[in-house]
Amino acid sequence: MLKVFYSKNQSVGANASFSPSAGKPEQVIKSWKERGQEFEICEFSPVTREDLKIVHEPSYVDGVLDLTHANGFGNKSPEVAAALPWVAGSMVAATLSALKNNTVTISPTSGAHHAHYRNGGGFCTFNFLVLAALKARQAGAKKVGIIDLDCHYGDGTQDIIKTLKLDFIKHYTFGGDPLIHEDPALWLQQLPEVVNTFSDYDLIIYNAGVDSHIDDPLGGYLTTEQIQERDSTVLNPFRKKFIPTVVSLAGGYQKDASGNIPKVLELHGFVFNAAWFTEKLKSPEEEELVYE
Ligand SMILES: [Zn+2]
Repeated sequence: MLKVFYSKNQSVGANASFSPSAGKPEQVIKSWKERGQEFEICEFSPVTREDLKIVHEPSYVDGVLDLTHANGFGNKSPEVAAALPWVAGSMVAATLSALKNNTVTISPTSGAHHAHYRNGGGFCTFNFLVLAALKARQAGAKKVGIIDLDCHYGDGTQDIIKTLKLDFIKHYTFGGDPLIHEDPALWLQQLPEVVNTFSDYDLIIYNAGVDSHIDDPLGGYLTTEQIQERDSTVLNPFRKKFIPTVVSLAGGYQKDASGNIPKVLELHGFVFNAAWFTEKLKSPEEEELVYE
């Protein structure tokens, strides 16, 4: 059964930010429970300060957690600081589970890829994508791929890879691909080729941001149908080759008149579906049964 690594400790109800990310885990889990597809909510432990210091300057980690340095939302909220080790813990646990069980898992987390080695920003505080990659390497993965299809450039991820010289990570970021600005349909058509360049990797981290949606106030390229196609295009080939894959959520900023995020939840539902279907795949022979 599809494993989702969620704890109420990783969700923050009230956070003064344009971004709904801090409170999104709880909402997204609720929306997935309402779908009627079975999945398992898995418990996990928060990461430690020492874990976070693997990918960030120690004084930055201490500053954020001790409330002397602003988090990636630009505030010093104690609730956000308390949630952050759980957010990263969800991603690390989901990653290690995918690797150990050779399957696909979900971490309903957001807010990593703008977090640089020495500072956060853009609603991102700690870069749990790179932390998950490093933890996977400690667990035996030799090559880790990060496919980041959030609308924005993964500058924080790139900065940490460069600063720490993490050559075992291959990083593709949607926000850094000029083709998306020119021709989104062509970009989607060529996505299988991008995905194929990761086919000899030991673990894939898929950051499935939905601010790439055409109506997103901070994004705007892909239609609802194209987001749906994107998610299955990324996940299906890795599952067919039995490459462990972990999904995180990343950005999404569409709100209705009441300030709620039904469209964001609908769009995140596509990656849940793609993961749910691919998790069922037990052998290449069963592929046709699953995808018919
Ligand atoms: Zn974004």
